[in-house]
Amino acid sequence: MNPRNNLRLMLFPHPFQGHMNSMLQLGRILYARGFSITIVHTNFNAPDPSSHPHFAFRSIADGIDQSEASTPDVRGLLALLDVRCAAPFEECMREMVSPRGGGDAAPIACLISDSMFSFTSSVAQRLKVRALVLRTGGAAFLYVATLFPVLKEKGHVPVLGSRSEEPMKEFLPLLVKDILTVDPQKPESSSGVIINTFEELEHFDLALLREALPVPFFPTGPSHKFHVASSSSSSLAEDRSCISWLDKQSPKSVIYVSFGSLAALSKAEILEIALDLADSEQSFLWVVRARSVHDPEWLEKLPSRFLEALEGRGNIVKWTPQKEVLARPAVGAFWTHSGWNSTLESISEGAPMLCMPRFADQGVKARYVSDVRRIGVHLNGGLERENIARAIKRLLVEREGEEIKERALAMKEKASVSV
Ligand code: UDP
Repeated sequence: MNPRNNLRLMLFPHPFQGHMNSMLQLGRILYARGFSITIVHTNFNAPDPSSHPHFAFRSIADGIDQSEASTPDVRGLLALLDVRCAAPFEECMREMVSPRGGGDAAPIACLISDSMFSFTSSVAQRLKVRALVLRTGGAAFLYVATLFPVLKEKGHVPVLGSRSEEPMKEFLPLLVKDILTVDPQKPESSSGVIINTFEELEHFDLALLREALPVPFFPTGPSHKFHVASSSSSSLAEDRSCISWLDKQSPKSVIYVSFGSLAALSKAEILEIALDLADSEQSFLWVVRARSVHDPEWLEKLPSRFLEALEGRGNIVKWTPQKEVLARPAVGAFWTHSGWNSTLESISEGAPMLCMPRFADQGVKARYVSDVRRIGVHLNGGLERENIARAIKRLLVEREGEEIKERALAMKEKASVSV
């Protein structure tokens, strides 16, 4: 650990779990480099200060109530947070930079805010504080999303849903459907971008970004592997019993199934996943968040074929310590929604992926995993019985799966070198 340098960084994470994780991980790295860290956070999904004893915490009143917080409309919630947080954030920052507000604390050298908040750079400018943004979604996606406005001008996008299976010729190997739910991004207006990725993984995409945009990019490395008295940044209670369960299973025998912190599942989707897991004949660990299902009796209502499989070779939990799960020898594959944190965590442990993107940036990420890095299989046809059975077989039983595993392990090596 470097000596303290008497400079304070103000970190403002977005409260969604994947974003919060990335920012707290970055905070740990910067703390180890000697900076003091203040986390300014919303009341909604607030982090637990006791898990991060080295950081100072300040909360801002976002005014998000219970029903707003539990909406399935993720985009709506994003927009609401952006509007509601602007004024309280500015007030908090003004207090922190005023000579009295700082108290004995070191002066604020820089603000690092999540790029999902649109107002932070202008607040920092008004208060004459240097500012960087953290992009939590990786380089390839950012490159695609920032070129959107240009392509739109040229009439190449928007693309139509009816063409969803066609290739996007401007961004091969992406298909039209991979970007249908991507929001175009404005080119960066900040003075620099810290980006949650590592050179060895996205060297090519980082080079494209550096060419396309006039701001410096600083990859974090696989920040979740950086342990400074490592602690959980999860706002949900982790069920650790799944770790001892995993340790009783044979190596590479379990499919780990999790669709992140936001995606909700319909009744029909739950039933389909359950039957797929029953038919796969593989052991499974399935994360079903309380908020991702609406019927409290959903489990009892599943067919006996699944319930027998669950009793014999399965486990369902509400939330796991995912990074630890992926590192257990028993995990043979990760059935994922292709969120960026989950993707990086999987890559760092060499776990091949079954990619089932749900929305936003996930389509792009899934396509890169399957078609560019070839460390996973894309569930192209979505939740259809034969499609999934075929994908699971390709990954866990066939020769192709062996090759995917070899590439995934080679990528793990690269990730560990760049920590
Ligand atoms: N996660 C976890 N336990 C779980 C499921 C997910 O700790 O049971 C964590 C996971 O490790 C990752 C984050 O939640 O860091 C999900 O972020 P991601 O970007 O993959 O997806 P999002 O939740 O933003 O859709």
